[in-house]
Amino acid sequence: MADYGLIINGEKIATTDSFGVINPATEEIVGQCPIATKEQLDDAVNAAAEAFKSWSKVSDEERVAACGKIAEAIGNHAEELATLLTLEQGKPLSGAQFEIGGAGAWAGFTGGLSLPDKVIQDDDKARIVQTRKPVGVVGSITPWNFPLMIGIWHVVPAIRTGNTAIIKPSPYTPLSTLRMVEIINEVLPPGVLNCVAGTDDLGQWMTSHPGIQKIIFTGSIPTGKKVMSSSADSLKRLTLELGGNDAGVVLDDADPAKIARGIIHGAFMNNGQVCAALKRLYVPESIYDELCGQLVEAAQGVKMGNGMDEGVQQGPLANKMQYEKVLDLLADAKANGGRVLCGGEAPDGPGYFLPYTIVADVTDGMRIVNEEQFGPLLPIIKYTDLDDAISSANGLEVGLGGSVWSSDAERGSAVAAQLECGTAWVNQHGGIAPNIPFGGVKCSGIGVEFGEEGLAEYTTIQIVNVNKSAAA
Ligand code: NAD
Repeated sequence: MADYGLIINGEKIATTDSFGVINPATEEIVGQCPIATKEQLDDAVNAAAEAFKSWSKVSDEERVAACGKIAEAIGNHAEELATLLTLEQGKPLSGAQFEIGGAGAWAGFTGGLSLPDKVIQDDDKARIVQTRKPVGVVGSITPWNFPLMIGIWHVVPAIRTGNTAIIKPSPYTPLSTLRMVEIINEVLPPGVLNCVAGTDDLGQWMTSHPGIQKIIFTGSIPTGKKVMSSSADSLKRLTLELGGNDAGVVLDDADPAKIARGIIHGAFMNNGQVCAALKRLYVPESIYDELCGQLVEAAQGVKMGNGMDEGVQQGPLANKMQYEKVLDLLADAKANGGRVLCGGEAPDGPGYFLPYTIVADVTDGMRIVNEEQFGPLLPIIKYTDLDDAISSANGLEVGLGGSVWSSDAERGSAVAAQLECGTAWVNQHGGIAPNIPFGGVKCSGIGVEFGEEGLAEYTTIQIVNVNKSAAA
């Protein structure tokens, strides 16, 4: 079994305590996760603060080159990282390779973004220039669904803009991040990127640590609220990417045969463990039965199993906590009249497996609709009035993504514009890219990632305002 350590100031650091990380396909231990102490977090903060003194001053070209080297280093270790990711997260090896390819691509693209100075006024009275400065030490706290890609989303823009960073992975999937940061440290100066791991307490220590100036957090809404309150004392900058419960609204002009595959992809990608997955589908009565039939057909034939096995397309849920939550929501739906169209039965263990499950005849207010399932469950709700469906789609506290499905793109866009969410897709669900700002409204988050707007979140504005008339 490989030996994992914290990565602080470019060194691999052993800890006294550790815990076993479980492979969700076999329930066996993949490796031991080191548990950082408070003192080790202090060491990481001090290393990052020391490195900030020089990293914040290196040239833009050097930082761009560093991002390119990060992308290259990830690419050079893609197979090793993909295998580790599959072992601890459960996703099929092809999905892990996709995630690592995405991480590298994001790192490269983000490296090429820039936030040039803006001259606000330059005349005989004054020269006023707006610059963007790094905030200092950035703390990154990541979830378990896409640990490596989300880790890169957090730390590369931080490094690109002259900050230094400390990443803390989820206790469910820490090993691949520890190894990725070790690899990245081969191409970065010591202290620029550090990794601490442990239990949830460590996240709380980070959010209240006076030496960390910004937190970028991706995770659930309840934890996001704790992050916000714990960061208040030191008034940290925050980007919060939180949970969603994205609605898909099908219009009565949609062709069920044409949209079924896109809906299944949007709902079940990464086993439904996607913040912006399609998590509740509103379907007009006139095409309800036909679309239900097409969705079941599109969900058939998916090979479920251990992600390391050849040809597997669907792995287990990533951990026992999530598995039990999803089974509980399914049981509640069944008990309250939900009609299971496909899937619906968990095979005998080991492993946290549940096939793609579509549940029809559910209504707003049922737990499977109102709570974020974050698993391979898709509830279908019948509607008769489009305004009612839009108001249901907007009726929850969340607003991450949403989608509209229609044969008429213009009509679809007009309905999409009425959805209260950060991204409203038409005839697709979940498409993201490094040049498109992404974030939630309402309780789904604060701030955005990606693009120049995402980069700007790692900076503060400084205005240099020169009074020319006084100098003359
Ligand atoms: P989680 O909130 O349980 O944990 C996220 C991270 O927070 C973990 O690293 C955890 O150790 C840490 N943490 C736990 N308690 C903490 C505390 N008190 N202070 C600071 N950190 C603490 O979420 P999860 O179960 O890992 O991830 C699933 C959730 O993440 C879902 O709700 C999903 O929608 C959301 N998510 C959102 C996005 C997005 O971009 N909006 C992306 C992926 C996942």
